[in-house]
Amino acid sequence: MLSHPAGRHRAAEDELGSAPAMPPSSVASLRVIPGPPPTAFAPAVPPPAAPHSAAAETAVSARGLSLTYETADGPVFALSGVDLTVARGEFVSFIGPSGCGKTTFLRCVADLEQPTGGALSVNGLSAGAARLRRDYGFVFQAPALFPWRSVERNVALPLEIFGVPKAERRERAARYLDLVHLTGFGRKFPWQLSGGMQQRASIARALCFEPKLLLMDEPFGALDEIVRDHLNAQLLDLWRETGKTVLFVTHSIAEAVYLSGRVVVMSPRPGRIVDIVDCTGLGQERPLEIRETPEFLRLAHRVREGLRAGNAYEG
Ligand code: ADP
Ligand code: MG
Repeated sequence: MLSHPAGRHRAAEDELGSAPAMPPSSVASLRVIPGPPPTAFAPAVPPPAAPHSAAAETAVSARGLSLTYETADGPVFALSGVDLTVARGEFVSFIGPSGCGKTTFLRCVADLEQPTGGALSVNGLSAGAARLRRDYGFVFQAPALFPWRSVERNVALPLEIFGVPKAERRERAARYLDLVHLTGFGRKFPWQLSGGMQQRASIARALCFEPKLLLMDEPFGALDEIVRDHLNAQLLDLWRETGKTVLFVTHSIAEAVYLSGRVVVMSPRPGRIVDIVDCTGLGQERPLEIRETPEFLRLAHRVREGLRAGNAYEG
């Protein structure tokens, strides 16, 4: 797994942070490749036969999940008693103020942190076993691309680590760069790309080994609103077409409601779930204008109320 970039604790005010210089042509979309992508290399750990049970339809199951960090200043209750079941193919967003445990929850699912209490399963396995099976791709708050590698070699890095042959690495990197509308940018270096383009490259990197589960931690938090709108709409298309399970962290109420089947509202000290808002009533076809409808505004209001109830605004 790629190392976590520095500065992962971004404040809520970053939501509408500085806009990267994006030429109009690069206010681009994530493009959907029709049909399931081919899986051309065998995973190192062969997946067990899928059990035909309700558990097989569950992507993530957390029961009484807790994580307490022991620090020099005493314990930090990052997660406490989190109960959540995410079905396969669901799009679930997590919203709450800085420090309420959103990143910690995603890191537990990715087996990057060990919970101190409760139970967690990912696609019917422990988080560790799911990681060995390469069940998830992680998109971080910052693109975390290596400046000395070309964009193509950054996208292909997980494949290189997994020992995929060079020709296939190049083919897949090109395919997923195309998917995020970065065709022709593979030979560039990250510093030659705008912030939005770099983040799209990091999405291509997460997708290139075709994970079942996409973990996205404020992926669009540093982008301006217009670029974010485009990427939101196209991420929704990508999700509908690929059927991936997505866990998505955001500070934006509108982004959460627009993208999600359910919005998990969290509160800090200790990090816990205060409400789960069902947004499936908005349907699957969601033009951006849906954000002006009474139903959308009602759902956004409920999320805001949940944040207030959790004293989120004091944080
Ligand atoms: P969020 O993503 O919602 O902003 P985090 O999951 O990053 O919140 O953090 C939850 C809490 O745990 C915060 O109080 C944070 O300071 C603390 N925390 C996160 N990682 C560590 C760590 N490695 N050691 C100690 N405390 C941590
Ligand atoms: Mg975070």
